Amino acid sequence: MTRATCPYCGVGCVVEVKVQGGQMKSIHADVEAAPNFGMMCPKGALLFKSDDASRRLTEPMIRDEKGGPLRPATWAEAIRKVADGIKDTLTQRGPDAVAWYGSGQLDTEASFLFTKLFKGYLGSNHTDTNSRLCMSSAVAGYVRSFGSDGPPTCYEDMDLADTFFLIGANMTANHPVLFNRIRRRRATHEGTRIIVVDPRRSKTAEFADLHLAVKPGGDVALLRLLAKAALDRGDLDLDYIEQSVEGFAELKQQLDELDVDAMLDACGVPAADIEQAAEWMGGGRKLLSCYCMGTNQSSRGTDKNTALIDLHLMLGQVGKPGAGPFSLTGQPNAMGGREVGYLAHQLPGYRKVTVDADREALEQAWGLAEGSIAAEPGRPAVEMFDAAARGELGVLWVACTNPAVSMPDLDVTQHGLRETPLVVVQDCLKDTETAAYADVLLPAATWGEKRGTMTNSERLITRSDAALPIPGEARTDWKIVCDIAQAMGFHGFDFADSDEVWDEFRRLTADTLCDMTGITNEQLDQHGGTHWPYPAAAERPTLRRYVDGVFPTPSGKARLSTASYEPTAETADDEYPLNLTTGRVAQHWHTRGRTGHVPELNRFAPHPVADVHPSDAGGFGLVDGDLAWVESRHGRALAEVSVTTNTRPGLVFLPFHFGDTLHPETAANYATHRVVDAISKQPELKHAACRLVAAPNE
Ligand code: SF4
Repeated sequence: MTRATCPYCGVGCVVEVKVQGGQMKSIHADVEAAPNFGMMCPKGALLFKSDDASRRLTEPMIRDEKGGPLRPATWAEAIRKVADGIKDTLTQRGPDAVAWYGSGQLDTEASFLFTKLFKGYLGSNHTDTNSRLCMSSAVAGYVRSFGSDGPPTCYEDMDLADTFFLIGANMTANHPVLFNRIRRRRATHEGTRIIVVDPRRSKTAEFADLHLAVKPGGDVALLRLLAKAALDRGDLDLDYIEQSVEGFAELKQQLDELDVDAMLDACGVPAADIEQAAEWMGGGRKLLSCYCMGTNQSSRGTDKNTALIDLHLMLGQVGKPGAGPFSLTGQPNAMGGREVGYLAHQLPGYRKVTVDADREALEQAWGLAEGSIAAEPGRPAVEMFDAAARGELGVLWVACTNPAVSMPDLDVTQHGLRETPLVVVQDCLKDTETAAYADVLLPAATWGEKRGTMTNSERLITRSDAALPIPGEARTDWKIVCDIAQAMGFHGFDFADSDEVWDEFRRLTADTLCDMTGITNEQLDQHGGTHWPYPAAAERPTLRRYVDGVFPTPSGKARLSTASYEPTAETADDEYPLNLTTGRVAQHWHTRGRTGHVPELNRFAPHPVADVHPSDAGGFGLVDGDLAWVESRHGRALAEVSVTTNTRPGLVFLPFHFGDTLHPETAANYATHRVVDAISKQPELKHAACRLVAAPNE
């Protein structure tokens, strides 16, 4: 048996892989091992069926001319083509023409080395990842309120909370093992309440004691009404506010002057339901709020998250067992990527490119000349592909992700991939939709074949080991980065193994907000998952942050915001009278690179199904089972119509997993748009004005 972290969602389940005859035979979970203690969901349990050898990329491939055929190449040839392409671009066009787009599925070691190469050695901060599509509003919310990224909470809080407030998080589908923990708490602790905020009556909402079917984009209005209700009920923790919070007078004035009727109209939730929710959230009950894409993927994502954190701060529900705002990550190592600083504005150890001392610390550690690291943030994901579409990039290196399906407004993204002279795609699969644009394909080892480190939603760092040998000539992601860096003549990439990479990164976190110097290779191997912060001198890892009510802000106090309700960037009108929202289904993960090839999963969700309210379906002349185009101003996607009252009138839900090369027209992201949150730069994947057009059934 080999222990590994599940490569799907941010729960980060640790599983045991059984190999027989050179193949994975089964997956189990140890009841003793954190964080899942024996639990898995079907996706995880069927991991041993998810690797399709016929689709594996096992040798490097090169296109000799743009648009020509791919041909097999040696590693030496592929490395030289990438290294020379980067060098030539740097010489001719400068570092702004070189970019990397990665993923929260990469392990920490590879993410760290991509960051080191691009930001340290190439002078390009143009590194960003699909975490921008997923979590950047959570990052921005934490930083704005607490002065630091990273959740204050841990999974143990799910065993202790009195009230769960789940907003924008369909946990039965996306974090099923954690939702089981919540259900277990309710079953064993009388009086536990689950409140779900979701415009759809999702499976999670069906389990709720109270479902608040908020209008799309109405979250800030709802959260401010809840804050006002808490204030009016006398539920605020005034001692905590006095000692640990700033900005109360401004927010109280905003709440005193709140236009209640307008906010009720904006959120669409009955006043009595808000009062009921406020009662269950106040009164000193331990309040745990879980949030995810529903609040993050919005042009107001940062405001939504800070309005939620404001509520916790005013109720004194931060840094206590069973309490706190808890952002759930969608990917297995989105947290680890943030820790190594792979987003365009970050540096390793929660440092920032805009802070002189942060750049200098890394330049010194890496033996680089002063000024090697650029002081301006790079291009976040949407801007990166916009720049590519304008022909401003010379090299775009994509690793372990599939932007040709997952980015918003796919026409622009795909145009950018076509326009960029050198597109390097590093992946374990040879036939992803993004690989079709590659000038160089670099074969990477995948889950179960490599040793590496990840951080889950609760800051728990886990270590995976290899259960199988790496097939063909594929190499680990961290080794590929090193090979190309060394071919460019850079020192500082001569690691013997991934443990040495971890050690370098771990040491760089000394005295930072995510200090993990105590999390040595020995600690991970001998004691398993370990929470950060864990400075080397500390007695134990840190389960909860901010327990002393002190925050890493200049004043030491957390900051209340004055976020106020604003409508979504696009609103329904006569031409496009509906609102498109995208999301996941329980059976699939991202663009189905694995789950699309597991018959037991695919059988239940073989193609995209658009959930449409009966009143809307009737208005467009559609019945259950029809094929329809979901059309927006940006493009259209084909789906089967499911007529259901589980969605609000005016709302169309479409899963974003689909759009494979055989059926590209099913990609939901042809219809989404590229507007982003002004602070987090996260795109508004949850709101695009749309309409339905019947498509002939063939
Ligand atoms: Fe994997 Fe998430 Fe399922 Fe756990 S809950 S087995 S991490 S997909």
